Amino acid sequence: TMAHSKALLVLENFIAGKFVPCSSYLNSYNPSTGDVYCRVPDSGKEEVEAAVKAAKAAFPIWSSKSLLERSQILNKLADLIEHDLEAFAQAESKDQGKTITFARTVDIPRAVYNFRFFASSILHHTTECTEMATMGCVHYTSRAPVGVAGLISPWNLPLYLLTWKIAPAIACGNTVVAKPSEMTSVTAWMMCKLLEKAGVPHGVVNVVFGTGAKAGEALVCHPDVPLISFTGSTLTAQRITEKSAPHCKRLSLELGGKNPAIIFDDADLSQCIPTTLRSSFANQGEICLCTSRIFVQRGIYSEFLKRFVAEAKKWKVGNPSDPTVDMGALISKEHLEKVRSYVKKAQGEGAKVLCGEGVDSLALPTGNQKGYFMLPTIIAEVKDESCCMQEEIFGPVTCVVAFDTEEEVIKRANSVKYGLAATVWSSNVGRVHRVAQRLQSGLVWTNCWLVRDLNLPFGGMKASGIGREGAKDSYEFFTEVKTITIKH
Ligand code: NAD
Repeated sequence: TMAHSKALLVLENFIAGKFVPCSSYLNSYNPSTGDVYCRVPDSGKEEVEAAVKAAKAAFPIWSSKSLLERSQILNKLADLIEHDLEAFAQAESKDQGKTITFARTVDIPRAVYNFRFFASSILHHTTECTEMATMGCVHYTSRAPVGVAGLISPWNLPLYLLTWKIAPAIACGNTVVAKPSEMTSVTAWMMCKLLEKAGVPHGVVNVVFGTGAKAGEALVCHPDVPLISFTGSTLTAQRITEKSAPHCKRLSLELGGKNPAIIFDDADLSQCIPTTLRSSFANQGEICLCTSRIFVQRGIYSEFLKRFVAEAKKWKVGNPSDPTVDMGALISKEHLEKVRSYVKKAQGEGAKVLCGEGVDSLALPTGNQKGYFMLPTIIAEVKDESCCMQEEIFGPVTCVVAFDTEEEVIKRANSVKYGLAATVWSSNVGRVHRVAQRLQSGLVWTNCWLVRDLNLPFGGMKASGIGREGAKDSYEFFTEVKTITIKH
């Protein structure tokens, strides 16, 4: 009805500094109620074409600005987002299903920091110079922005991950066309409203909303977009690699994980248990870095499991806008069904579900009965070959298994196709180093989780990705280097 559609939030693409309506729209759901609450442009080739054109037109001016000017603009944008932090956090929580607490303390502060961080780091890079005295030559490198960057991001940490790409791309002098996930587009749209005030010239940041198959692929296939930075699933990355191959595009791919936690019998469980609960269930388990395979040394296996399950049962699942809630709703009905199906499969294979899905009952507030909720779920007695131990579930499901020796656990931890992040728990410094060195994992956290210094490389091995992001890594990705030789 008209009255109903009036209440919906309607997003528009942001192209050449202007909001432009689209000819067709997609429904976007509020995961905590199951209601359609927002309409997202269903962009395709035409919209992408207009955005790329705008980005190309803005490139000469933006790329010739001084580093300091660009840095000041990024800082201004950071200030403006921070000023509206609460509104952004509310929007992110509503759109994604994550708790308001997580959005307030993780997502939006990090989006702000992404701009501040690259506003600063861009000022501190140096290029190389070598001398070849016998030839009378000096060589030096110079770096220049590449052009129009295509940025594609997922739904789990919407503004956080999108700004982790936009900030370095524009700090380096590129212009961008960004395509957020069609399921979580609202905060990107809100950010567009601040660009002009921050001093970002028209056409430097363009945002095209829509699906991966239409808008995403049009961006990947566009001949005037020489680089694509993508965060999402391994399957989509394969498709992007294929589609961009005829153009020899530069790709940065941040993909899925099946991250192990390795807990030795000398671990400090008073720290390990609360951190491993967070690493398993934070953001509904919808973080690429979440733990989903917990290897516990035999001597402490029963004690760990007992305490871990008892603590998981205390997690409060419910309305994400309630600040006392620990876990909100999963992103979509389809995703919830997929996550649940893994628990069923494990049971079918003879594994034991110790708490959560199918075991405990979930009482939801009246307004949230149709939301996509499930309880933190812990599975034991599951085989390493099981799909629950091999495939990325990307929900609040974690498996706990026992191991005996260091050698054995390293082998088992490495026996999946992914290699994104691992945690190691032990008070033996020598062991921690040995194990960290041998894990096939782009990130290893020992006795902690999710502690990040943005200066250092972030990314995965094997099916978890290609390339790294971080101060130096993003700078290298978003610039083209040239070696120049001068003979006197
Ligand atoms: P997804 O691959 O389905 O989608 C990611 C983005 O790609 C979306 O914007 C989507 O619209 C777009 N897309 C889909 N098909 C496309 C195509 N053919 N061409 C171009 N673009 C296309 O992933 P998702 O479900 O949104 O996110 C969850 C996945 O992301 C998980 O696998 C998770 O591990 C991964 N992830 C990785 C990291 C990391 O840094 N390594 C961070 C967060 C999430």
